[in-house]
Amino acid sequence: MLDFTHAAVAYCLAVALLYLGLWVYYDRVRPRRLSRPGRRHAFFCPRCQRPYEGAPGAETAHCPLCGKPQGRLRF
Ligand SMILES: [Zn+2]
Repeated sequence: MLDFTHAAVAYCLAVALLYLGLWVYYDRVRPRRLSRPGRRHAFFCPRCQRPYEGAPGAETAHCPLCGKPQGRLRF
């Protein structure tokens, strides 16, 4: 029969493994997926108050409504 101490140790190990898995995911897997080449960049036109998408790798893109070139958004 499983007593309280064994159950508490098993619970702590399960929580530790969960956080280890989340850490590995956010540290290793996710940045690689976000930095794939060919990703489109976000742009924002302050005149039209509207976000839009540019060509992959472009540093500037023209607003589809007013045609004014804008630099890409950086977060
Ligand atoms: Zn515009």
